[in-house]
Amino acid sequence: MDFVENNLDPAVEINRELMAKQIIAQSDKYQICEGCSSIVTREACICPNCHSYQFDTDLINIKMQAQILAKKVPSSVTAQDLL
Ligand SMILES: [Zn+2]
Repeated sequence: MDFVENNLDPAVEINRELMAKQIIAQSDKYQICEGCSSIVTREACICPNCHSYQFDTDLINIKMQAQILAKKVPSSVTAQDLL
């Protein structure tokens, strides 16, 4: 799960905490993909990440998910992670 960054302002992209704040402040403009738990904008009909078309639009869930993602350290998946 992650923020789907190509849907967000590129200036905000570098700062996950700022991105989370933006999502929390405007959670009615976002939704959570039920396929991969990414946060995408409401305009997205299909998740750009996993192509799922089911979304959770619950504002409380969106705020919670944004907080989780803000704390998550960005890292790439290595073979070690899959063990
Ligand atoms: Zn997805």
